[in-house]
Amino acid sequence: MAEIGKDIQKAQEILNKGGLIGMPTETVYGLAGNALNAEAVAAIFSTKNRPSFDPLIMHTYSLEQVARYVSNIPEKAKILAERLWPGPLTLLLEKKSIIPDLVTSGLNTVAVRIPGKKITLELLKELDFPLVAPSANPFGYVSPTTAQHVNDQLGEKIEYILDGGSCEIGIESTIIGFEDGSPVIHRMGGISKEKIESLVGKVALKPHSSSNPKAPGMLKNHYSPGKPIILGDLQQLKKEIGETDRLGAIAFKEAIKGIAEEKQMILAPSGELSEAAQNLFAALRSLDNKEIDIIIAELVPDHGLGRAINDRLKRAAAK
Ligand code: AMP
Ligand code: MG
Repeated sequence: MAEIGKDIQKAQEILNKGGLIGMPTETVYGLAGNALNAEAVAAIFSTKNRPSFDPLIMHTYSLEQVARYVSNIPEKAKILAERLWPGPLTLLLEKKSIIPDLVTSGLNTVAVRIPGKKITLELLKELDFPLVAPSANPFGYVSPTTAQHVNDQLGEKIEYILDGGSCEIGIESTIIGFEDGSPVIHRMGGISKEKIESLVGKVALKPHSSSNPKAPGMLKNHYSPGKPIILGDLQQLKKEIGETDRLGAIAFKEAIKGIAEEKQMILAPSGELSEAAQNLFAALRSLDNKEIDIIIAELVPDHGLGRAINDRLKRAAAK
């Protein structure tokens, strides 16, 4: 198992040598390595079992740093960066050649973001290079939102996990690209479409497509907890499946009758979508560890952060 701690210097030493660490962010925990070291980047792909056509997000600590690695920052990108960083927003910007092609899967844009976790920003400031950090889970599985989750899944493969507590946002960043300077959403995430539109006006949504090589994060059957998940009306699904104590449920804000309390995950007793986002992956993970065979889940209201939550639920339920 990996060691879990708050030792920035230790994290730095491992990264300086080309090693990988578990790293907290406000979205999910990342598996981090030196973005400029192609061997470290390759190790990330093999450790996660991630297909190498799936590009990585680069993490750094300031807009000045970002400018060192990209050749152009469109006006609207600058506005979004200034208003929303540090935060769960990733921008796709034209890359300079210093970024290894492995990071971007050969695309001419690089995904960049400034994460909002204090200990991680401190680490990034100490380093002479940016980090790439995809979620610290085997490819296709549920993303980790605590240091312990990382240890459960990748603890045999890495030495150290920097502990930043649990993730305040709980789902991945919103990814925005630019077409002739106009923002286009590539992935729904921790910042809502409404919030982005309040800053830069109308934004288009890149249509979901599991075959779109420009956005492989859109792959179907992602975030899979291992057990089958069926989406729909919880009461109705329970009726159809019939009497069984091998059933677990994910509900938005209220428990349903007839399923034991410990087999139900209520995402947001408060009814707040931000609370639901924060709890989503831990709920999937927790049900996966229970004595059940099947998970039923309901979608949440489809606005604001709800769109990103529903996107994750649908992909977790995809075959
Ligand atoms: P994550 O797995 O959360 O680290 O997110 C990485 C995702 O960002 C990838 O799966 C892609 O969907 C997306 N991504 C990264 N770089 C690019 C890029 N240059 N163009 C389009 N999408 C990208
Ligand atoms: Mg991931």
